[in-house]
Amino acid sequence: MSTAPAGGVTVRVPAKVNVQLAVGAARPDGFHDLANVFLAVSLYDEVTVTPADALTVTCSGPDSDQVPLDRTNLAARAAELLAARNGRPGGAAVHIHIAKNIPVAGGMAGGSADGAGALLACDRLWGLDTPVAELLGMCAELGSDVPFSLLGGAALGTGRGELLTPLDAGSFHWVFAVADGGLSTPAVFREFDRLAEGREIPEPQASPALLAALASGDPDALAGTLANDLQPAALSLRPQLARTLAAGTAAGALAGIVSGSGPTTAFLVRDDEAAAKVAAALEASGTCRTTRIATSPTAGATRI
Ligand code: ATP
Repeated sequence: MSTAPAGGVTVRVPAKVNVQLAVGAARPDGFHDLANVFLAVSLYDEVTVTPADALTVTCSGPDSDQVPLDRTNLAARAAELLAARNGRPGGAAVHIHIAKNIPVAGGMAGGSADGAGALLACDRLWGLDTPVAELLGMCAELGSDVPFSLLGGAALGTGRGELLTPLDAGSFHWVFAVADGGLSTPAVFREFDRLAEGREIPEPQASPALLAALASGDPDALAGTLANDLQPAALSLRPQLARTLAAGTAAGALAGIVSGSGPTTAFLVRDDEAAAKVAAALEASGTCRTTRIATSPTAGATRI
């Protein structure tokens, strides 16, 4: 684990999995109303900010070549937003380093995590101590999943996912199968719209059975309630994910689901031992690039 260099601030930020992702019809602004049950999982990026002459971004880690290092990086946008909001002369003059462990474009909110991490790290570096409610507002401007990356734990996201209500959640064990290549979230929503054409789309609502299972910490109960309305769209764009899902459940996972917009797949397992077994079987199956083992829930963006 890295620690902040002298004069720098490091923040650790978790990935997320959606145990329920209910998607409503497309709104006039193009977004969809969601009922999104988020869990923060123990798979982290670390974002370090240090004072510099100008805004620069570097990234390390196995997928770092897929991360943009220009001003489109969500961490850079977060630093610029906070600097502008506080009228800092010289703007966001920081070097941002992202130690990336969350799969890129994998449906686990990796970019959102870096946005939330950079926002908190710059806030501390600049001694601003912005109230959490204000930080959450800025997170929502950066992206629908960014507020949850800051908050962590377990939460219901409504609106386009950015309006959060914390939830009670017991502890659960997960295996993630990381696919080759990413899937674009907007493309998956467009496919959802195409598949939904001519169908009545109900208002998205959190499932009471799922919320009860989450609070109980009973993995068998949760396994029966996992639901992702984006899964058919992700499978339509990436049919081979069906093989990954089948391999994970054949290996003893209690349930498997596409994580968010995919293409990462998430498998709920009973305990550490089952996690190791399912991960090994998934890697041997040749249906994914690699696997990660994690638990939920875990804290949101945290200074380390
Ligand atoms: P979500 O689950 O929120 O839909 P995701 O996990 O599928 O997101 P990300 O890893 O956030 O996807 O990356 C989506 C795209 O965002 C990438 O392809 C990349 O071009 C861009 N991006 C911008 N900033 C970052 C960042 N800090 N890390 C990774 N990708 C970033």
